[in-house]
Amino acid sequence: MNKRIYLDYAATTPVKEEVFQAMKPYFTEAFGNPSSVYSYGREGKQAIDTARKQVAKAIGSKTDEIFFTGGGSEADNWAIKGIAYANKNKGKHIITSNIEHHAVLHTCEYLEKEGFKVTYLEVDEYGQIRIEDLKKAITDETILITIMFANNEVGTIQHIKEIGEIAREHKIYFHTDAVQALGNVKIDVNELNIDLLSVSAHKVYGPKGVGALYVRKGIKLFSFIHGGAQERRRRAGTENVAGIVGFGKAAEMATENLEEHVSKIKKLRDKLIDGINERIKYVRLNGHPTDRLPGNVNFVFEFIEGESLLLSLDLIGVAGSSGSACTSGSLDPSHVLMALGLPHEIAHGSLRLTIGDFTTEEDIDYVLENLPKIVDRLRMMSPLYEEVLKGGQK
Ligand SMILES: *Cc1c(COP(=O)(O)O)cnc(C)c1O
Repeated sequence: MNKRIYLDYAATTPVKEEVFQAMKPYFTEAFGNPSSVYSYGREGKQAIDTARKQVAKAIGSKTDEIFFTGGGSEADNWAIKGIAYANKNKGKHIITSNIEHHAVLHTCEYLEKEGFKVTYLEVDEYGQIRIEDLKKAITDETILITIMFANNEVGTIQHIKEIGEIAREHKIYFHTDAVQALGNVKIDVNELNIDLLSVSAHKVYGPKGVGALYVRKGIKLFSFIHGGAQERRRRAGTENVAGIVGFGKAAEMATENLEEHVSKIKKLRDKLIDGINERIKYVRLNGHPTDRLPGNVNFVFEFIEGESLLLSLDLIGVAGSSGSACTSGSLDPSHVLMALGLPHEIAHGSLRLTIGDFTTEEDIDYVLENLPKIVDRLRMMSPLYEEVLKGGQK
């Protein structure tokens, strides 16, 4: 088989063998409906209880503060719309940032059509919101602050604890999309003053289509899926038992060896960042140099298109991304890169490579050996680069 190297862990991750093994019985012999009273049902119910404990432990919450959903997008939608509709008599103002995942941004845009007011905070050149801007944006009408824990494209981590403190002082709910943070940053919802938090299984070596929303005890939230009494009457529908079991196992594995995992991934990330900086001219790292996800590498390569770079990498078996997988197929540069202040034509030359548990040092060597050649070849076809060569030094 031809060589294949996966460097798109921010888009999704493979299900780990242990996770898969934990899930398997719930498709076949332990298939009962968790709402049924006989033993088949009880098996399913117990398995969900265990998974709820595992996810709660991974973020430092209580078990009954975890509600399973159909993924990270649903958790984001639920948190934001749920708080908005439950508190619209108190106020109709929401604060977010302009680098959020579309699951947050498009939900906020939808609420604007419903009569809510949304402030989209700008970020600095590294992708962090300014705490001063947040303070200034707060009004008597503000009911929710939703700021992502870590960005999926450029890897920037926000000052979550400070944001949580400000929200707490003003008695405003604080939601964070922690889909990229789980398994990469230590999360403790109490220490960080977080009221609602979204996570997703498939970003932490669990299955796709399952996630969870943490809701601090006592917080009223609108529900949107009406029917049976599942998830303590907050989200109806027969549970995705196998998926939830897989998420529980994955969340446990992702957080029990967190430091070891982080230091291993970081080493590979830094080798790739340093290697690119040493070997290729006219490049720039996007995102924050240190407040950064351990596996995120995102570079601008001047004079070339990220899409061409991706295709050339695909030809040698390397899978990366030119921004967010959700936006590829569209020709506009990503909203995140634009928010960092990159000019349009430069933002187009971006490449994201994200490292995970199965990445090896050899994988990084292979990329470092081949990427400079690809970049050279693509630049040779660029009229802009020709100008640079003619003009000597840029
Ligand atoms: C992947 C992702 C989501 C969406 O999660 P799904 O489970 O794919 O719906 C939301 N936010 C961030 C930051 C993500 O990376």
